[in-house]
Amino acid sequence: MKDNVVLYPSPGIGHLVSMVELGKLILKDYPSFSISILNTPRPYNTGSTTPYINHVSSTTPSINFHNLPAVPISPDSISSPHHEALLFEGLPLNNHNVHQVLLTISQTSNIRALIIDFFCTAALDVGASLDLPTYYFFTSGAACLAFFLYIPTIHSNTTKSFKDLDSNLHFPGIPPVHPLDVPKPMLDRADKAYEGFLDFCVRMPESKGIIVNTFEALEPTALKALSDGLCVLNRPTPPIYCIGPLITDRGGGDASATVDCLTWLDSQPKRSVVFLCFGSLGLFSAAQLKEIAIGLEKSGERFLWVVRNPPMEDKSWRNLAPPEPDLDALLPEGFLDRTKDRGLVVKLWAPQVEVLSRESVGGFVTHSGWNSVVEAICAGVPMVSWPLYAEQRLNRIFLVEEMKLSLSMDESEGGFVNADMVEKRVKELMGSEEGKALRERTLAMRDAAKAAMAEGGSSKVALAKLAELWSGS
Ligand code: UDP
Repeated sequence: MKDNVVLYPSPGIGHLVSMVELGKLILKDYPSFSISILNTPRPYNTGSTTPYINHVSSTTPSINFHNLPAVPISPDSISSPHHEALLFEGLPLNNHNVHQVLLTISQTSNIRALIIDFFCTAALDVGASLDLPTYYFFTSGAACLAFFLYIPTIHSNTTKSFKDLDSNLHFPGIPPVHPLDVPKPMLDRADKAYEGFLDFCVRMPESKGIIVNTFEALEPTALKALSDGLCVLNRPTPPIYCIGPLITDRGGGDASATVDCLTWLDSQPKRSVVFLCFGSLGLFSAAQLKEIAIGLEKSGERFLWVVRNPPMEDKSWRNLAPPEPDLDALLPEGFLDRTKDRGLVVKLWAPQVEVLSRESVGGFVTHSGWNSVVEAICAGVPMVSWPLYAEQRLNRIFLVEEMKLSLSMDESEGGFVNADMVEKRVKELMGSEEGKALRERTLAMRDAAKAAMAEGGSSKVALAKLAELWSGS
């Protein structure tokens, strides 16, 4: 029977894509393994999962998908305003099904490891009951991991919620964190989402190891604090395996718009274009979109900008493809015409990995989702960090203060960024001495990333250690 590694991502295409990439990475170097992926449909599925699974199944037959029933919980039954609470509350209800599927898989292969993502913490119990070594795949960086592992210590040192604290918090291995830079669902102790995060932070050390999408040269300080055992108090820190950078090419987007935007980029001078793109979920208010447009226009720089509609009260379109933005209505009058010789606005989605690899792209204004950060580093493109949700405010701190690969898009009161700030940061990124220094550091980090993934590199070695642990021979 084949040695098998089971991957259990939480619902949502982003989580699934990251796990698939991990599976492909394992198979590339260790093709004798088979990979099983447990797929949980979201209660409000966006519909993009099925075609993606079909595509992976046909192109990588060693990856098998096993569909779990939908999480039996309705979004309306969750008291928290944060969708994370739905996952933390819903996924434990799937434990029985996970158990059953693992038993089925074990009839035809030797399961050597179960790898879960952080919303699936409850599955640690399933792993334990079947005596399976259970690992986390942590899809953000090591600094963020250090933050989470130390949360139980902070929790026990205060009775207050983060939202009620005002002085900087100190964590081993990372720069000081302002309480308001803590991910939003964790700000209020009374919130179910906070409970879920705390449970994950407390239980993560029960795992056999934590696989992280980073590489040693990118985050040495955080990794040292982790390996010195400073982040987990009163128990050992599980081994950390940095296997990145793992690039998740999401594809997607309209095919002809993709061709248009890459063709346009190829007609622009080297390193002249700033790319603005804000992850899979980043949305701005109508007023903020106008302000970005004014800032971009005043900067005089070339740009490629992915624009979406502002958030809508009515979430009924969530089951469908998001509606296309009406650019003429959203952007300042005449903006598209005045900037047509040096700017391109793309609706909804751009092929980010391909865009970043184009020679003409010289800077990236990003929401600082970890995949975007890793993709920018691999392409050697310096950033301006404009966090919007999840752990992105933490990532900004690490990028700006520790790694020094990014400028910060500073918000004014209420989180609004005015046009002057957009203009200033874009100009600094593309034209100043500081921007040049950022670019040089980013290029050096790109080379370090390549070295980590090359034969004998730190990430290759970490993956080899895992493969050795998992192989039955
Ligand atoms: N992405 C893309 N085009 C877009 C927006 C996003 O290809 O217009 C991809 C991007 O390359 C990255 C992923 O979507 O791989 C976003 O992941 P990230 O962790 O940066 O942010 P998230 O969407 O999870 O907030």
